[in-house]
Amino acid sequence: MFNIDNIRKDFPILSRKVHGKPLVYLDNGATSQTPIQVIDAIVDYYSNYNANIHRGVHTLSQEATDKYEEARHKIQHHFNAKHAHEIIMTSGTTESINLVAHGFASLLKKDDEIIVSALEHHSNIVPWQMLCEKTGAILRVIPMNDSGELVMSAYDNLLSDKTKLVFVNHISNALGTINPIEKIIKKAHQVGAAVLIDGAQACPHVKPDVQALDADFYVASAHKMCGPTGVGMLYGKESWLNKLPPYQGGGEMIAEVTFEKTTYADLPHKFEAGTPNICGGIAFGAAIDYLNSIGFDNIASYEHELLEYASKKLLEIEGLKIYGPKLSHKTSVISFNLEGIHPYDVGTILDKLGIAVRTGHHCAQPIMAYFKIPGTIRASFAFYNTKEEVDILVEGVKKAKMMLS
Ligand SMILES: *Cc1c(COP(=O)(O)O)cnc(C)c1O
Repeated sequence: MFNIDNIRKDFPILSRKVHGKPLVYLDNGATSQTPIQVIDAIVDYYSNYNANIHRGVHTLSQEATDKYEEARHKIQHHFNAKHAHEIIMTSGTTESINLVAHGFASLLKKDDEIIVSALEHHSNIVPWQMLCEKTGAILRVIPMNDSGELVMSAYDNLLSDKTKLVFVNHISNALGTINPIEKIIKKAHQVGAAVLIDGAQACPHVKPDVQALDADFYVASAHKMCGPTGVGMLYGKESWLNKLPPYQGGGEMIAEVTFEKTTYADLPHKFEAGTPNICGGIAFGAAIDYLNSIGFDNIASYEHELLEYASKKLLEIEGLKIYGPKLSHKTSVISFNLEGIHPYDVGTILDKLGIAVRTGHHCAQPIMAYFKIPGTIRASFAFYNTKEEVDILVEGVKKAKMMLS
């Protein structure tokens, strides 16, 4: 049963005040809030079994290792990966992408082609540009249209036997667009290219099945899915992970070291040099448990209700423009502007009213350039938000408009 009052009680932060007003947290696209179940997992780790993993014979180390590997299995099952060793623990989406980009430097040659989409987060653009500089490969871009959706016919034209890699986000963080990743993956595979899906913005809303999608790589961050910051995952098909060289050298990732030659550990440890974010990984597992206890079907339908309600209410404000696709093609993100008013000014007034939204380019400057705007105001809703909070947002935007025009 989806009970919003009980759910809100799980999130201590939601009862705090900002500038004397109840917090209305609508910046979930940047990071989600943390339920007590996840906070408890963090406290439990540091209170009871803080130790380094994979190397100690003592009890604490074994307990920490078991819990950490249990978290890896939770992530495996959540994403329906075939093997636990196909889940690499990282510091987040950005590191996961950089790990793959680094690995492909040794597999690409001059004039090979890489395709990204116009809807990408900077963290899914810059590492590929760096890779192209290193290898002489060429970066191609799937364009978007006025409703913030990818132009699939243009994608067809970009694909060729030169295409080696395709990188797209599952859901756009700036506009909420749900991309047709099944089709994108299928078409890439027809020309023999590998596909990396950036799931950072999708995973708070949907439960991806990497085998059904046939994704070669899928990446996400815990902190957008009710987990802590500084931890995330990379799913890679075993065959691809075996082809890629290690990302960093150090402890944990070796089989044997001599000064003449080092051999690398098996997956997943080959990619996990050094002491990982042990507590973070365990808390990531707790966050996945929490989200599944609420249920992704419940999350999706409740958030969609909020999205419909908020879109309708906001559009009643004259001069307010929402960017992005129609409601059935996106998640609970509303990126908007008030005519003639800078988004930053609106965000500042909303903050004074206790309302947290993001303003700016949302790490997606190419999208803003397309619309010829400096940025937007982005309200991104989670399953713990309410219609009352939407009403507060709408009143806040009206007030900001009055003060600024
Ligand atoms: C947040 C986000 C990222 C970056 O995630 P980090 O946790 O900062 O590494 C990448 N892509 C998308 C679509 C995002 O929303």
